Amino acid sequence: MAPLWFALLARKGQPKWLLRSGGSGRLRSSAAEASGDRHHLIYTPEHFALRASLRKIIDKEINPFVDQWEKEGQFPAHQVFKSLGKAGFLGVNKPTEYGGLGLDFSYSIAVAEELGNIHCGGVPMAIGVQSDMATPALARFGSDELKQQFLAPTIAGDVVACLGVSEPEAGSDVAGIKTKAVRKGDDYVVNGGKMWITSGCQADWMCLLANTSDGPPHRNKSLLCLPMKLPGVHVAKKIDKIGMRSSDTAQIFFEDVRVPSGYLIGEEGMGFTYQMLQFQEERLWAAANILAPLENVIQETIDYTRQRKTFNQPILSNQTVHFRLAELATELELLRSLVYQAVVLYVQGNDVTRLASMAKLKAGRLARELTDSCLQFWGGMGFTNEVLVSRLYRDSRLLSIGAGSDEVMLSIICKYMQILPKK
Ligand SMILES: Cc1cc2nc3c(=O)[nH]c(=O)nc-3n(C[C@H](O)[C@H](O)[C@H](O)COP(=O)(O)OP(=O)(O)OC[C@H]3O[C@@H](n4cnc5c(N)ncnc54)[C@H](O)[C@@H]3O)c2cc1C
Repeated sequence: MAPLWFALLARKGQPKWLLRSGGSGRLRSSAAEASGDRHHLIYTPEHFALRASLRKIIDKEINPFVDQWEKEGQFPAHQVFKSLGKAGFLGVNKPTEYGGLGLDFSYSIAVAEELGNIHCGGVPMAIGVQSDMATPALARFGSDELKQQFLAPTIAGDVVACLGVSEPEAGSDVAGIKTKAVRKGDDYVVNGGKMWITSGCQADWMCLLANTSDGPPHRNKSLLCLPMKLPGVHVAKKIDKIGMRSSDTAQIFFEDVRVPSGYLIGEEGMGFTYQMLQFQEERLWAAANILAPLENVIQETIDYTRQRKTFNQPILSNQTVHFRLAELATELELLRSLVYQAVVLYVQGNDVTRLASMAKLKAGRLARELTDSCLQFWGGMGFTNEVLVSRLYRDSRLLSIGAGSDEVMLSIICKYMQILPKK
């Protein structure tokens, strides 16, 4: 198969790859049919082609191993990322000079959606950290040298990236982080620690948010690329979690870690602003990534309750069951519309902080409600570790906590509505 990026970039001239698949018209209809023809609002034949190509990797190289990785409490990030990187999936909206596909953010959203077909939440989350959470600021504000050194190998899947924002004493309150990076000669000397770091046990570098001065909390922070093999970086422990089991989550300490000053992303003191921008992509990515799992849970619940009988009739025949499923499907479509609206506006260059926060809030809330309702209809089977619904019930619980809790999203929305009381 020709590399995906080549096929997509070739499209502007002659769509060689699309023709080989039977012409863009045919490809569109078949791919659109496969996904229920519901994504046409923002997706073109290229989005569908991208998703179909990613689906092959998921089916062949990821899903057959998910159960084993869930048991082991970690997936082999280097191996999986190499394969995704080779096919172009770790930098679809990143600049071509660094190995990205140079496409717009709607393609990242298409990838996020398709990754939702992985049979767990942990692996897609770690992929999202690599492609859309640890790297947007570097891609946008980093120097050319820094992008050659850190962004290019991350997009290629040669290295694993992590994002270091949260700390033991500061999660929701990002401005309150304590980790310091003090300039000494040509280096920053980093002391402090980070908590809840996805892929932290395997990562080669961290996009680190640290205080680089004593100034006001929104202007004293900077983002740095911190190689994880440097002396003084200690991975203190792998955190034992109720869900997202195949993704390793680490607590990390820094003890006099010397990071070359050239590893600063953009301008010193702009870290908080860069991180808030980076959060917009993270939140939209997270909301898009939950669409397929929720759709899959509804479908599996329909299949199960159609064949399982109680009182001489399928469970699905009870109005309380099929009405509930119809209502949840409707809620899911509303979430989808909100995500797409935010993505379109973002691609057009608008600030979508309000809509991205609403999408993330709704995604977290709906994931809890939907997986809980569906699990109920599976009875005892829903309480086992043998069905997807129970795994997603556990995994998707994180959505209301990570990348800013529901309450933090509500505070942001209130700020935009000008109803948040001043402190
Ligand atoms: C599996 C997992 C992976 C993660 N991956 C990463 C990662 O890769 N990188 C990273 O930097 N972080 C990561 N996180 C951290 C995550 O972003 C934080 O857990 C989250 O921001 C919440 O912070 P906290 O846990 O410190 O909760 P706290 O800040 O202690 O808040 C606890 C609860 O208090 C409530 N609350 C907080 N503020 C308010 C308020 N203003 N009003 C009302 N209620 C409020 C909320 O209900 C909140 O859930 C991860 C977390 C988990 C669990």
